[in-house]
Amino acid sequence: MTNANGRQNPLHVAIVGSGPSGFYAAEALLRSGRDVCVDLIERLPTPFGLVRSGVAPDHPKLKQSIQVFERVLREDRLRFFGNVTLGRDVSVRELQASHHAVILACGAQSDRRIGIPGEDLTGSHTATEFVGWYNGHPDFRDRTFDLSCKVAVIVGHGNVAADVCRILAKPVDDLRDSDIAEHALEALSHREIEEIHVIGRRGPVQAKFTPKELRELGEIKGASAYVDPAECHTGAQSDIELASPTNTFAAKNAEIFRSFAKPAPSAASRTIRFRFYRSPMALHGADCVKGMTLSCNDLTGPAFSQVARANGKQEEVACGLVFRSIGYRSVPIEGVPFDDTRGIVPNERGQVLDDGAPIPGLYVTGWQKRGPTGIIGTTRADSLETVESLLSDLDRISAATKPGTRALCTLLAERGVPVVDLDGWQAIDAAEIARGQPRGKPREKFTRVGEMLRLVSDADS
Ligand code: NAP
Repeated sequence: MTNANGRQNPLHVAIVGSGPSGFYAAEALLRSGRDVCVDLIERLPTPFGLVRSGVAPDHPKLKQSIQVFERVLREDRLRFFGNVTLGRDVSVRELQASHHAVILACGAQSDRRIGIPGEDLTGSHTATEFVGWYNGHPDFRDRTFDLSCKVAVIVGHGNVAADVCRILAKPVDDLRDSDIAEHALEALSHREIEEIHVIGRRGPVQAKFTPKELRELGEIKGASAYVDPAECHTGAQSDIELASPTNTFAAKNAEIFRSFAKPAPSAASRTIRFRFYRSPMALHGADCVKGMTLSCNDLTGPAFSQVARANGKQEEVACGLVFRSIGYRSVPIEGVPFDDTRGIVPNERGQVLDDGAPIPGLYVTGWQKRGPTGIIGTTRADSLETVESLLSDLDRISAATKPGTRALCTLLAERGVPVVDLDGWQAIDAAEIARGQPRGKPREKFTRVGEMLRLVSDADS
C-alpha cells in the first residue's frame, strides 16, 4: 500500500508534546535514514513547550534551540497538530491503533507539594504559576500575585527558584526589551517587594543552582544578595562533597555564597537573602499568607546522601507572598502505566514498561521519562536514546501497514477539533513578532487560546 506521498508503508510515529524532548525525538527520527512520517501533537496552538513558556524572558540565549526546532517543523515528513489535547481529542489507544509507535514527551506538568498546613492559602503559589504567568502561558494568564507586600519567600534552591527571584528583583527597565508578557511587566512595575528570602532545607554545598544563575542574582541593579555568615557553615561531610573533583558546581557556588556573606545587607532597594538549613513547616494567615514557620535543620548521613533533619528550633518569617519551587512532577495519562513514587512513566531506555514488561510501540522521553532534572541539552541525549530503542524494535512494531497521519486527520475532523497546523503557527508567530515591534520586544505573545484560534481562522479564510 502507498500513502498520499506515494511511499510504501512508511513508519508512522506520533509524538505527544512539542517541547524540547518531543522535538529532539522528531529530529532523531527524521535523521535516522528510515522512511518515517512524524505527527507532532501539542495541547497548545503554539509549539516549543518550556522553551517558550518556561525559560526566563531575560535569558534569550537559552531560547536559541528554537531555531533548530523551527527547521524540524518545516520538514515535509513532519505534521504539526497544535491545539490537540491527549485524552480529550484523541486517546493513547487511538494513536496506538493508527501509528506504529507513540512517543510520549509531555514533560512534568505538575508540581511537587511540600505537604504542610496552609500550603494552599491565598498568596502561596507554585513557581510554575508565576513562571507561566510572566511567560504568557494561557493556563496562567489570569493568575494574580500580590506584589504589594514587602517580603516574599521562595522555597527551594534550584534554577527555577533563581528565575523567580530574578524576575521579582530585577528593575522592569531591564526586562522591557524581552519577550516577557505585557501584563506581567505592568504588574511588576508596581511591585513593592523589598526583601526576598530564598530558603534551602540543606546547606550551601547542596544548593542546586548552577553557578552562572547564582552569580547573576548578585549582579541585579538596585538589589543586594546577602548570606548571614553564621548560616553559611559546612560540616565534615559537606567538606568531603566540596573537595570532590566532580562536584565543581558546588565549589563555585560555595565561593559565590561566601562573596554574599557580609556583616549586614547593604542598603539596596531590594535584598535577596539566601537562607540555609531551613524547612517550611506551616504557612499562617486568616485569609491570605501573613507568615511562615521554619524549622531549623541539621544534616545527617554520609557525603552526597545527607538529608535535612529538624533540630527542634523554629523561626517565624513575616511575608505576604510565597513561591514553592521544589521541583516538578509528571501527571498520569489514561492508558499509560505511571510510577507514582517517582512521578514518571516506568521505562527501560525509553521503552514504556507495564509491570516490568515492555509495551510494544509505546515510548517516553524527557522529564516524563527521567524526572524533572537537567537542561535543554540533557534532553537531546535522552530523546536519542528513546529513538534508538524504538528503531531497535522496528521489526516488531512496523510489520503491519498503518494509516498514520491520514487517520489522525480524519478522527480530529470528525470530532470538530480546530487543529493549528504549521501555517497556523506561522501566522501566530508573525503576528506576535509584529505586536512586539512597537514596544522594542522580540515578540508580544498571545496569551489566550481563543485569540490564537481566531487569528488562525482569519488567516485561513
Ligand atoms: P531542582 O533543581 O531539583 O531544585 C529543587 C529544590 O527544591 C532543591 O533545592 C530541593 O532541595 C528543594 N526541595 C525539594 N523538595 C523540598 C521540600 N519538600 N522542602 C523544601 N525544599 C525542597 O528543581 P527546579 O529548580 O525546579 O529545576 C528543574 C530543572 O530545570 C533543573 O535541572 C534545573 O537546572 C533546570 N532549569 C535550568 C535553568 C537554566 O539553565 N537557566 C532554569 C530553570 C530550570 P534538596 O536538594 O534538598 O532536595
